[in-house]
Amino acid sequence: MYDLAIIGAGINGASVAHEFANASKRVIIFDMDGIASGGSGAAGAFIAPKFSKGGELKELLHDAFVYSMEFYEKNFPKLFTKTQLLHIAKDEESSEILKQYKQNTSLELKEAPAEYLESLSEHAKAFEHISIDAGVVDAQSMCRAMSKSAKYVEQKVDSLVYDDGLWIINDTYSAKSVLLATGAYESVIKEPYIKLRGVWGHRIDIKTSTKNPYSLHQNVSISPSSDNKLAIGATHNVHYHPQSATEPYDVEEGRAELLEKAGRTMKLEDVEVIRDFTGLRSGSFDYMPLIGNVVLSKETLCSKEIRFKTKKPNFDEYTYYPNLYMINGNGGYGFVLAPYLAKILSEHILSGKKISERLSPARFFARWAKKLD
Ligand SMILES: Cc1cc2nc3c(=O)[nH]c(=O)nc-3n(C[C@H](O)[C@H](O)[C@H](O)COP(=O)(O)OP(=O)(O)OC[C@H]3O[C@@H](n4cnc5c(N)ncnc54)[C@H](O)[C@@H]3O)c2cc1C
Repeated sequence: MYDLAIIGAGINGASVAHEFANASKRVIIFDMDGIASGGSGAAGAFIAPKFSKGGELKELLHDAFVYSMEFYEKNFPKLFTKTQLLHIAKDEESSEILKQYKQNTSLELKEAPAEYLESLSEHAKAFEHISIDAGVVDAQSMCRAMSKSAKYVEQKVDSLVYDDGLWIINDTYSAKSVLLATGAYESVIKEPYIKLRGVWGHRIDIKTSTKNPYSLHQNVSISPSSDNKLAIGATHNVHYHPQSATEPYDVEEGRAELLEKAGRTMKLEDVEVIRDFTGLRSGSFDYMPLIGNVVLSKETLCSKEIRFKTKKPNFDEYTYYPNLYMINGNGGYGFVLAPYLAKILSEHILSGKKISERLSPARFFARWAKKLD
């Protein structure tokens, strides 16, 4: 019997496994295709904040960025590389936003060497840029290292039954609590109010004689080079979805698109693509992640006392699955958010610490229930 069964061994599931191992809890983690076989294995895994005007997602990502930089450096220094990030605006509008960001941020601003800036394309030089200390994670090794203390089972979970105070998984394993960390894949528990959109991404590792010392982000993310290799990644192909597409993803076209977009920022010489990584990342419809307990919609809707058509729903009135939690919807910032969210979620599961309503999956239930007749 385990304290926690985690379904999904991407960066979200692995981060929670790490927190639970530190609390000396017994954890079992399932993945149908292997550790980091989903969006996490495809990611460039850059650790960067969101350079936007303002709002709750920017604030959350700022806090998560500061937390995760320290977390990775302290706990997994061999799988984390501190880099200088040069983020360049894409157009006039984002240049203005970046100017405002620079005036208001508490992050220490760095100066990129004039010689390096000069080596970039005219398109890069035309727009505002910002440089800060940031990082890159070795995505697959990090997921493996974080889930090292858990028992790993390579199996698709398609049966979850709650019986006599325990969750029975695939009729074989039992755990006090279950965490759904299934990313953009179909969830084992189907609730009509939980809707996540999958966004397709493609990363290529290339050989090139061009030296690049920076994490360079403009239309795509370009990693610093080492041993004449670097990575270019983007979750740009939003119109492709493997579940609804009629044609398979065209890898050659994706490569060409990534190289063309990278070329708009810097000239890459003697390029040879050595590896492709593709995957889906999942985002929520208000762009904020979802962490916490899962509302049982059928049972909650049966309650005569709850007013669903209200501006101020009371999440405490809802009925929840017993000891069932989720972590999902990190969008393009999974590696930035996961350690920070895993800490919040673990404190909630282990000590009952309240999770902000803005992160709770119950917010989507409240919106969905309000619209029902
Ligand atoms: C090309 C690309 C580039 C990216 N770049 C960055 C970046 O630079 N920085 C950053 O922070 N983020 C980046 N992201 C986003 C980041 O990768 C995601 O936010 C993150 O990987 C989400 O992690 P996850 O654990 O929620 O999902 P996933 O990594 O998709 O993990 C979910 C896992 O659950 C498993 N699973 C699902 N259902 C079941 C089941 N029923 N039984 C068993 N197993 C199941 C799947 O096999 C999968 O391994 C990028 C994404 C992509 C695709």
